[in-house]
Amino acid sequence: MSEKSKKPETIVVSAGRMSAEHFGTVNTPVYRTSTILHPDFESLKSEVSGGPAPRYAYGRIGTPTTESFECAVAELEGAARTVSVPSGLNAITTAILSVVASGDHILMTDSAYGPARRFCNGVLKRMGVATTYFDPLLGAGIEALFQGNTKLVFCESPGSLTFEVQDIPAIAEVAHKHGATVAMDNTWATPVYFPALARGVDLSIQAATKYIGGHSDVMIGTISVGEEYAERLETYVHDLGLFASPDDCFLALRGLRTLPVRLARHWGNGLTLARWLQERPEVSRVLHPALESDPGHKLWRRDFTGASGLFGVILKPINEAQLAAFMNSLKHFGLGYSWGGYESLIIPAHFTRTAKKFETEGPVIRIHAGLEDTGDLIADLEAGFAQMRAT
Ligand SMILES: *Cc1c(COP(=O)(O)O)cnc(C)c1O
Repeated sequence: MSEKSKKPETIVVSAGRMSAEHFGTVNTPVYRTSTILHPDFESLKSEVSGGPAPRYAYGRIGTPTTESFECAVAELEGAARTVSVPSGLNAITTAILSVVASGDHILMTDSAYGPARRFCNGVLKRMGVATTYFDPLLGAGIEALFQGNTKLVFCESPGSLTFEVQDIPAIAEVAHKHGATVAMDNTWATPVYFPALARGVDLSIQAATKYIGGHSDVMIGTISVGEEYAERLETYVHDLGLFASPDDCFLALRGLRTLPVRLARHWGNGLTLARWLQERPEVSRVLHPALESDPGHKLWRRDFTGASGLFGVILKPINEAQLAAFMNSLKHFGLGYSWGGYESLIIPAHFTRTAKKFETEGPVIRIHAGLEDTGDLIADLEAGFAQMRAT
C-alpha cells in the first residue's frame, strides 16, 4: 500500500514516532529543555555562521517532543509543515498575522469563533488591517466582497455556535483567483473528517485543545501548511518567540493516537442526541449538518467524511428561569466552555452577527456529546425538560 493511500486511523498510530532515537519508547518522552549542549565549537559556530543548522538548537525552537507532535499532525493534515502554538486562539491570530500587513483587508466569516472576531475588531484594526464579515453561506458569491487589498479569507465550517457549512472549495477558488490566502478553523471536523488542505485551504487551523487533546487537560493549537507557506509561517512563529510546551505537545500527541476512534463515537452519540432532540416539543430546530433536514447537509455530505459531537439546539421561546431549571437539573452534561474532551457539556450560546441576521425562535444552546451511554444522556435531557416545564 502506498503512503499516500494510508487512512487516518493508520496514520495516527505511527505518525511522528521516533522510537529508535528514544531507547525504543513507543511515544516520544517529554524533553524539558532550554539549553541544548552542542558537541563542539564547530557545530555551535555553525548556528551563527549560517552553516547547516543543528537538529535541535534551543528549547524555544523545538524539542524532540514538539517535533514528534508537529510531524504527526503534518502527516495527518497532508501538510509540508505544522507548527504548534500555545492555544487554538493563538493559532488563529498567528495564521492571520503571518500573512497580513498594515493597509490590508481581510474577509472573515460571520460565524467565526467569538474571540477571533474580537481580535479582528481590536488588535487587527489597531494595526491598520480592515475586516469585512461575510455571510458563511455566500460560497462563490464572496467574489463581490473582494477589494484590491484583500489578502486573506478566513473560514470556519461548520461555524461556531450556528453550524452553517461553508462551500470551502468554491471560496478557495475565488480567493486564489484574487491572489488571496485562505485560512480555515477546522477544529470541528479535524483533518480526520475534513482534509482542509486538499479542499483548497492554505492555512489549516486546529484548536488541538479540543479533539486532538481530547481529555480537557491541555491548551494547544496547530497551523498546518503546504510548501508555499512553510518558511513564512515558521519564521513568523520563531520571530515572535511562540512555542507550545513539550508537556502540552506530549499530551496532544497522546490524544492524537486515539482521535479517530473517539471521533467515531462522538459522531454517533451526537447524532443520536440530535435526532432525539429534533422530535421534542421543546425544540424549535437542531443545528447539525449530519441531519438530513439541515440546510448544510448536502455540502457536508459532499466535502466531509464524518461529523463531530458538537451541535446547536434552538429551543422554543422560554424564560431565563426555565432555561436555568433545565441546565441545573442535568447530571451528565457539565456546564462549561470548551469541548472535544471525552465528557458531555452544555452551554447557552450567545453570538454576534453583523453580515446577516441569524434568526432564532428561542434561546440557543450548544451541546457536546461525550463518550457516555446515549440512553443515560437522553434520560438526563428528558428529566431536564420535565424540570423546564415545571418551572
Ligand atoms: C475553542 C475554540 C478555539 C480556541 O481554542 P483555544 O485552545 O481555547 O484557544 C478556536 N476555534 C474554535 C472553533 C473553538 O471552538
